Amino acid sequence: MHIFCGLKDVSPAIDVARTVRSQMPDAQVVGTMSAGEICEGRLTPKGVLVSAIMTESSSIHVLRYDEVKDNETNIGDALCSELLQIADLKAVELLFPGTAVNSFALYEHLSQCRPDVQVFGGYSGGHELNSPQYFLFDTQDVMRNSMYVVTYAGADLHVNMDKLVGWDPLGLPLTVTKAEGNRLIELNERPASEAYESFLQIDRTQIDNALAGYEFPLMTTHEGDKNLRSTIHIDEDGALVLHGHVPEETQVYLSYGNPSLIVELVNKRLEALSSFGPQVILMFSCIVRKQFWGDLVDMEMSPFAELASTAGFHTWGEVMRDMRSGGVVEHNVTLLSVAMREGDAPTSTGNVPHVDNTLLRGQASLLSRLASLVNTTMRELQEAHNDLMVLNQRLTVMAERDVLTGLYNRGKIEQLIHDALDKTAQLGNTSVLIMTDIDHFKHVNDTFGHSVGDSVLRDVAFLLKAAVANYMDGAAGRWGGEEFFLLLPHTEPQDAVQVAETLRKKVEQHDFIGAGHVTISLGVLPVSAAEANADNRTSLFTSVDDALYRAKNEGRNRVVVA
Ligand code: GH3
Ligand code: MG
Ligand code: MG
Repeated sequence: MHIFCGLKDVSPAIDVARTVRSQMPDAQVVGTMSAGEICEGRLTPKGVLVSAIMTESSSIHVLRYDEVKDNETNIGDALCSELLQIADLKAVELLFPGTAVNSFALYEHLSQCRPDVQVFGGYSGGHELNSPQYFLFDTQDVMRNSMYVVTYAGADLHVNMDKLVGWDPLGLPLTVTKAEGNRLIELNERPASEAYESFLQIDRTQIDNALAGYEFPLMTTHEGDKNLRSTIHIDEDGALVLHGHVPEETQVYLSYGNPSLIVELVNKRLEALSSFGPQVILMFSCIVRKQFWGDLVDMEMSPFAELASTAGFHTWGEVMRDMRSGGVVEHNVTLLSVAMREGDAPTSTGNVPHVDNTLLRGQASLLSRLASLVNTTMRELQEAHNDLMVLNQRLTVMAERDVLTGLYNRGKIEQLIHDALDKTAQLGNTSVLIMTDIDHFKHVNDTFGHSVGDSVLRDVAFLLKAAVANYMDGAAGRWGGEEFFLLLPHTEPQDAVQVAETLRKKVEQHDFIGAGHVTISLGVLPVSAAEANADNRTSLFTSVDDALYRAKNEGRNRVVVA
């Protein structure tokens, strides 16, 4: 027997438990505080609800663990060895205040134990979102730090469980840039609460801020599986305290309940359950769903009762084993339905019940249309944004490059030189500037034509680029006409002279199509940290220009060090 108590005062519920026990001494009884009592798929007025499951061939047993907090690992161990003893164990139900203990430590153990056995359950908690309260009880005690484990065993017992959510991501993804345990500290390098404050206009000083954190949980997607994390609380520093962990680097979305998606998922679940042929359905529905639907909350639950007796409660968190991975995972915002049957499945399924979606008019349908509007607009903006990014990249290239040679243009190479010299001043090393000019280039143009001249410029540029390619942060730029600049940051002067000399020879030996042999002159200027630190760098440019001028005067096709 499940006894769900929606009242803050547990004594009427304990009376009920006592009566049950006196009438049926063998009955297994579990009692939990509830955030909404669900009877035959309908939310009942706040009170005490008793639900009984009777079996013919299966056995149901209750285990109780006390002192759960800080003892989760030991309890996980103890529970595992207990479960290993039970023959034909099919399912395990957990009822406990999961938000108040380290449920993850427990699940870590449980995930390793009997992976064939289905695990489900709900967290104990009261109706009031803002003043968390939770307890379990039996015929005499109220327990705030205990856990009930109900075991369902039987050769002929079949269990079919599944969860559904129906929440959709809203807007752009946010990256978790800082997190510690279940405290999400920064999203996109800003205090995490700003996401709520700016998108949802939620003032963190407002008393009921927790509500919005529940209704608009953070969503992560993992291999197509949506996982929701509600915000329990917003800390002073703007960190969100979540139900569960969200590791750093994860992308999260704010999410919203999409009524038409929910209806679709519930109908799918009803269809699956119809062919299963349940004799009883346990329902664990997150308190957020009750909050979200308001008066319409029965819409998604009541069709289940057309298949079998359906009872359960609104929870402060749900737990379910992922039967593919074996992992026992905490969930938020889910509707978890657990169907049980003794014996074979029915050969023919009756009418499959459906959600009465005529109820979806008015506010609920307005909500889904608004959400769809937001997401469509978002998608369009995202596409436009992507197009702009591509254009922007092209513009950047165009703004930085010389069209004829593909080298950096004067503006860019000048900027790179200044950046490199700043670093040199900082690090105390030497950088080298090389200025070079094609010899008698006017003659090339005059003799072979302008287009051959262009092709010579392109070939020289290619050789210049190759000369700096192996230097970290080395760069080549066109200074103007047939003048070029090379930048070799943190390079020793003798190495730079070597580079210049090699380059000079390479050009000299190169066979320029249509023009034959062409030479260049080079001026080399090593810049020390002290020189780089000067207020005005004009003299540096003059010096390297002077060196080049001397190379020309001394007969061209040569390297002169300033
Ligand atoms: P020096 O050895 O003293 O450098 O002699 P020079 O002839 O190379 O020097 P000058 O400055 O007299 O001539 C440079 C020529 O480069 C003049 C100009 O027409 C040519 N030039 C500048 N830009 C381009 C260009 O983009 N394409 C072509 N084909 N020629 C260009
Ligand atoms: Mg020249
Ligand atoms: Mg020139």
